[in-house]
Amino acid sequence: MSQSSTPSLYAAREPVFPRRVKGKFRTLKWVIMAITLGIYYLLPWVRWDRGPELPDQAVLVDMAGRRFFFFWIEIWPHEFYFVAGLLIMAGLGLFLFTSALGRVWCGYACPQTVWTDLFILTERWVEGDRNARVRLWNAPWSLNKARLRIIKWTIWLAIGIATGGAWVFYFADAPTLLMNLLTGQAHPVAYMTVATLTATTFLFGGFFREQICIYACPWPRIQSAMMDEETITIGYRDWRGEPRGRGARTPRSGQQPPAFQALERMAAPGTLIAQGAAPVAKGDCVDCMACVNVCPMGIDIRNGQQMECITCGLCIDACDDVMSKLGLPRGLIDYFTLQDEQKERAGGQAKAVWRHILRPRTILYTSMWSAIGVGLLVALFIRADIDISVAPVRNPVYITLSDGTIRNAYDLRLRNKNHEPREFALSYTAHAPLNLHVEGVEGISVTVPADETTQVRLYLDAAAQTEAAEAEHSDVRLWVTDITSGERASAETHFNGVAQDHDQD
Ligand code: SF4
Ligand code: SF4
Repeated sequence: MSQSSTPSLYAAREPVFPRRVKGKFRTLKWVIMAITLGIYYLLPWVRWDRGPELPDQAVLVDMAGRRFFFFWIEIWPHEFYFVAGLLIMAGLGLFLFTSALGRVWCGYACPQTVWTDLFILTERWVEGDRNARVRLWNAPWSLNKARLRIIKWTIWLAIGIATGGAWVFYFADAPTLLMNLLTGQAHPVAYMTVATLTATTFLFGGFFREQICIYACPWPRIQSAMMDEETITIGYRDWRGEPRGRGARTPRSGQQPPAFQALERMAAPGTLIAQGAAPVAKGDCVDCMACVNVCPMGIDIRNGQQMECITCGLCIDACDDVMSKLGLPRGLIDYFTLQDEQKERAGGQAKAVWRHILRPRTILYTSMWSAIGVGLLVALFIRADIDISVAPVRNPVYITLSDGTIRNAYDLRLRNKNHEPREFALSYTAHAPLNLHVEGVEGISVTVPADETTQVRLYLDAAAQTEAAEAEHSDVRLWVTDITSGERASAETHFNGVAQDHDQD
């Protein structure tokens, strides 16, 4: 075989021009888009009064202050378990929704889907619906084509800049950062982040679109492991729709004959619909391609379930519209399960939706999700606004003073999560008596400013030949107590005695 006749392993992408569609799932997608984009763009501008010392931005990842603010909740770096818990809940939530409702996340709420929808919407405003866009795509370059492209790309770029801009506003005071960005005084990292997110939004939403879902995103591969025959997903009732084709159909009992005028309007130009033709045994699918033309992934669901399908339901809206116009029952394409499909094919009845959703797997995911959620809520409400963490000094683990006293040193981090300065007293509990000193401080109390952390070095001394001095390790608990309120917190550590060296010998 000559080189020129070797078939290529790569095929050029077939551009997808989704057609406008109306219906309940399209409306649901618009609502979810408005909510998710509204939250994303507007949240950094919501103010929340925390007093004069703290930022008044409702949601803020304060890198400089090492704090995460979410309305009345303040997460400190040592409380990262809250973030970890929320991430685990997000993961379990995805498992739950995927096992119950398939790729509902991909179809309705994934940022790639939401922004691509927004980009397609602006494309439609500028260039027209599917047919006009296909014509424009195939037309040679002209002044009009260039004008429309420039308008479209300019709007996409503006959306990209707004998207990148909104992201950086979560990491600094939004009004201040906006002024700094506009006057060229923001940190270079802010400009680089905005530029990167502008470029990715522009390219992913405008040009890559369904290719991100098909080739770049690992989620479609992972989630197939979470789906089973009871997962609700999109399917085509081929036992009802086939054999497909245009032409007259036998009206079902109690139904009006198909509305041929409506069918003609939907048919491709040049195709004739045989009004008045003799009824033939045909399925309900009139092969109008409406379901294919509205699909943002460019697939034909009549070929069976496919990895590309994001279960967005737009083909259901399109087909239901066609069925209504033809006077046929809706639901030729529908959300149903593999189990229902087998039952219906055999002439049985589908199970109620709630019985598919309520099953051991989804109940287990819901229980785990709820348990973590309740645990986090409890932890949030019972956590003290005083805290201590201890790092024993390891080099050396102890020193011997001139009178034989054994001294251990500890670095203490004291946190005052209150909005006022507080005076903390330090103390310990241990089996054997010890002496406590704080470096650079008279007495045992330390003042910690409002909403701050203070690090102090603390010494514990055991007199020579006492139990603690001779032992290898003694358990010690260090306490920090608010002198005014009596609120306290503690951390465990241990005291190293000379027996440790004997053991090593
Ligand atoms: S086949 Fe239907 S549900 Fe699947 S992606 Fe296309 S339009 Fe959405
Ligand atoms: S929209 Fe419905 S009738 Fe039209 S081709 Fe698709 S499945 Fe067939």
